[in-house]
Amino acid sequence: MAILKNQSIRTKVIFVIMTVSSIALLLAFTASVIYEIFSHQNKMVENLIDKAEVIGNNNVITIANNYPESAELNLREILGSDRQILAACIFDSANQIFATYSYPQNSKPIKPVYREPTISDINFSENYLEVYYLQPNETGGKFATIYLRSTINSFYERLYQYGLVLLVIFIAMLFVTYLLALNLQRIISEPILSLAETTRKISEEKDYSFRIDSDRKDEIGTLINNFDEMLSQIEQQNMALVLAKEQAEQSAKAKEQFLANMSHEIRTPMNGVFGMVELLLDTSLDNEQKRYLSSIKSSADHLLVIINDILDLAKIESGKLDIEESLIELEPIIEGILGSLRVRTSQKNLEIKKIISPEVPAKFLGDSVRLKQVLLNLYSNAVKFTESGSITLGIELLEEDSQHIELQFYVKDTGIGISADKIDDIFSMFTQASSDTTRKYGGTGLGLAISKQLVELQGGRLYVKSKIGEGSTFAFQIPYRKVDAAKRATQLRKKVSTGQIPNILQQHIDAARQPSINNRILLAEDNEINQMLVLTMLKKWNYKVDVANNGAEAVSKMATGNYDLILMDVHMPEMDGYQATREIRDKHTADIPIIAMTASALKGESDRCLAAGMDDYIAKPFEKEVLRKKLMYYLGEK
Ligand code: ADP
Repeated sequence: MAILKNQSIRTKVIFVIMTVSSIALLLAFTASVIYEIFSHQNKMVENLIDKAEVIGNNNVITIANNYPESAELNLREILGSDRQILAACIFDSANQIFATYSYPQNSKPIKPVYREPTISDINFSENYLEVYYLQPNETGGKFATIYLRSTINSFYERLYQYGLVLLVIFIAMLFVTYLLALNLQRIISEPILSLAETTRKISEEKDYSFRIDSDRKDEIGTLINNFDEMLSQIEQQNMALVLAKEQAEQSAKAKEQFLANMSHEIRTPMNGVFGMVELLLDTSLDNEQKRYLSSIKSSADHLLVIINDILDLAKIESGKLDIEESLIELEPIIEGILGSLRVRTSQKNLEIKKIISPEVPAKFLGDSVRLKQVLLNLYSNAVKFTESGSITLGIELLEEDSQHIELQFYVKDTGIGISADKIDDIFSMFTQASSDTTRKYGGTGLGLAISKQLVELQGGRLYVKSKIGEGSTFAFQIPYRKVDAAKRATQLRKKVSTGQIPNILQQHIDAARQPSINNRILLAEDNEINQMLVLTMLKKWNYKVDVANNGAEAVSKMATGNYDLILMDVHMPEMDGYQATREIRDKHTADIPIIAMTASALKGESDRCLAAGMDDYIAKPFEKEVLRKKLMYYLGEK
């Protein structure tokens, strides 16, 4: 049976038909052989008894008159023509041998031992059949006993021939059955095979429009109909899914577009607010004015954090947030984080502990921006929710192999803590541990949701342990790649030489810079406030500036003016910054630096700018120092 397991349905059906037919034939043939054996035996016995009776009747006189020779003659006459009878013997009424016969004639006479029969006694042995027949006298008493012995070779011969005929019939019937089975199996196997073939095609081609035609009314017909019905349902579901997918893609596209627009629309005025505040702060102001301006700046900073959070969330949700790999230098990141909140921690008199275990490498490869973002979020929460005591920022090495390390970062505070029933909720968007958190501490409830997703995007996990009134510990683990120092140095050199990382060079620009020497800059910007903002900054730095209100104007101004650098807004009416850059690069051979200024925070924006032929990219809102450094770098100033 196990062998059949992997055979085709055809073979199985044929096997079943053949097995059942063979068993039926064997049973029938066995019954007929048994019947044949018994009926032939009976015939042989009857024949012998008949003969014994004839011998008895024929020899009444010879026995009565004691003529044994005549009796033997009579025996030879009766039995001589029957080759089956091997021996005969007449016992007289005193059970003494009266006459004998044996075949062949010259063979040694057989002298059987007398046995008292009832009427006739039969004995079947392996080689012969014996009969003792009682010949009665007139009164019914014993007159004589006739003994006959017959060979049973004929019985075996007949049985053998009979068996041979049956075998031939059996083989012939098996052959006929096989031919019939070959035809009959189609009734069962063909629809199943076509079902199997259809399922194979469907799974290979993922085409659910296939159907199996069948007008059968039996269980296989029901199976096929149900299968067809199932295919129709899958097809309909698939169509609905494709439709839903298209709609989801469309809405994702729309969302992305909305995001790009909103990002641009919000960041452009924010740029104005930031820039103007920075410019104002540089003018002579009294203390009260300075205080008001600082409040505007901190509100604007706060607003920007919220906008960035929402943009981050939208990017994570639409799968547009990429984790980048660059060199992470731990110390500056930690110092930056601790430094950014130093005023608040010292106001609250909090003890700040930094515990970095010595095995943690100073440099490794990963996404430094996202690491800083998560750490800053946890640290600023700790500062926000702790009124007294200490905050510990710790880093431990969890695992290490030749290529990778896994680090655990934790921020432990002695603040208000989180109740057990709220602890799972704080990682959900817009959720805070208590309803009065916003009123008391501010915040949107987005930071942890984003941090958790950012950590998970980097292959790690973020978790918290907290006890209300005692404090909280937020910890996360992230795997990083080890830095291959030699490789890294060559990569850096290559990037610097190809100008791919001017920002790194800018960090080394001397603090004592010289004022600009009348370099001419073309500012392509459509937004009036931003025009005014950049214009004021540039003029303050002694640059000569021309303004173009859109891309087309920038292209035509390039034909006449003799500029050293172009600041190019990306989104402008009539002709956008990408197109304008392409046209300038096509028309002018001079390798004028073009720096993009864009309020779009979408992934790939910097790549688009570089692809259009720009040299660098500044994201709005920007700090004036960032613009200053880029200008100095591209204009070769010190
Ligand atoms: P936000 O801080 O803007 O409210 P988060 O997502 O960063 O949003 O935090 C969600 C909530 O988790 C917080 O409102 C606060 O209830 C709770 N929480 C976060 N960090 C701490 C902490 N260190 N101590 C106590 N509660 C915290």
